Amino acid sequence: MEFTGDYHMHSKYSDGRATVSEMVNSARLKGLRSVAITDHGPHNVGTGVEKASTFLDIKKELRELSDEYSDINIFCGCEADITGLNGEIDVPQEISKHLDVFIVGLHPFARPNHLADLWALNGRNQAARISQGARRKVTNSNTKTLVLAMENNSINIISHPGLGMPIDVAEVASACVRNNVYYEINCGHSFPPLEDVLEAKRQGVEFIVDSDAHFVESVGRLDYGSRILEQAQIAPEQVINTALGGKALPWEK
Ligand SMILES: [Zn+2]
Ligand SMILES: [Zn+2]
Repeated sequence: MEFTGDYHMHSKYSDGRATVSEMVNSARLKGLRSVAITDHGPHNVGTGVEKASTFLDIKKELRELSDEYSDINIFCGCEADITGLNGEIDVPQEISKHLDVFIVGLHPFARPNHLADLWALNGRNQAARISQGARRKVTNSNTKTLVLAMENNSINIISHPGLGMPIDVAEVASACVRNNVYYEINCGHSFPPLEDVLEAKRQGVEFIVDSDAHFVESVGRLDYGSRILEQAQIAPEQVINTALGGKALPWEK
C-alpha cells in the first residue's frame, strides 16, 4: 500500500529521540508528501511536553522548516492525553485551535486532572490485567471516557484505540463515525489486532495508518498497516492517507 503522509510522531520536545528538523528531514528522505509532528500532551508523566504552550514553539519551528522546504507539507499537531472521566484532555482549546492535527489517546500513565479519577483512569487499568471483573468495569469506563472526549472536542484521530487500556471497539468505532474521527492503525505498536480492525471496518470507520515514530529510522515505517489492512480486506481507497484515498484531509484543505 502506498502512503502519502505520516501524521503521528514524536520529537525531543516529548519522548522522541530526534529534533523536529531531523524528523521532518527523515520524512523528506523517505519520499513522504506530508508529515506531522505530534508530541505528547503535558500530562503524560515523564514524557509529555513541558507545558501546553510548548506546542506553539514547535509550530514556529515547523513553520520555518516549511519556508525552507517546498518538497513536503509540514503540519503541527499534538497527541493529547485524556485526563478526566468526562473526556477532559490536557491540551486546552486556546492551544489546540492553532494546531493542524489533533490526536487524542488514552494512556495508562497520564496524570488526571482530579485525584478522584486516578483509580478509574490508571489503577483499575492495571488491576484489569489480573481480574476479569475489573476488566469489564474498566472497559466500560475507558469506552465512555473516549466517546465523551470525541463528543466534547474537535478531534481528528484517536491514537492506538485500546492499547494497554481495553475498550469496546464497536462503540468507540461507531463514535468515530458519528464524530468524523479517524481510527488509527498504529505501526509503532503493531496495534490494533486483526479482530479490532474487522470490527471497526464493520462500523464503517475511516482508517489512518501512522508510524508513531520516536526515532528518525521509524518515520514512515507503515508496513504493519499494509499487512493488517490486507488481511482485513480493506482497500486502499478506505484509508485516508494512501495515494488512492483521494480525499483531502481536514488539515490539508
Ligand atoms: Zn500514544
Ligand atoms: Zn504517540
